[in-house]
Amino acid sequence: MLLVCSSRCGGELFRALFAEVEIDSSGEYQDYRVTQPGYVCLNCGSPALDLGEVPAAMEEEAREDEPAVAPTDVLCPVCETMVQLDANMECPNCGSPLEVA
Ligand SMILES: [Zn+2]
Ligand SMILES: [Zn+2]
Repeated sequence: MLLVCSSRCGGELFRALFAEVEIDSSGEYQDYRVTQPGYVCLNCGSPALDLGEVPAAMEEEAREDEPAVAPTDVLCPVCETMVQLDANMECPNCGSPLEVA
């Protein structure tokens, strides 16, 4: 986690807003409630951002866009069919073995 003030005021102290603990009259822990996500900067009162979570989320998105295996187009030297190679290294038209250029 890496908190920064969204107003970039340089404040380095933050207060967590999301946790509110409920106790009963004997002081026993009852519940834990999420009231409001995030933190505020104690210096200027602006909401703080957690920079530590942003790169991980962006990385995950980038990985989803990338296909695991990029298909390669190869021209069969025998029958001149355009073949899209992935794991199959034979021409589907004439059965000739193909090589990725
Ligand atoms: Zn601030
Ligand atoms: Zn072929």
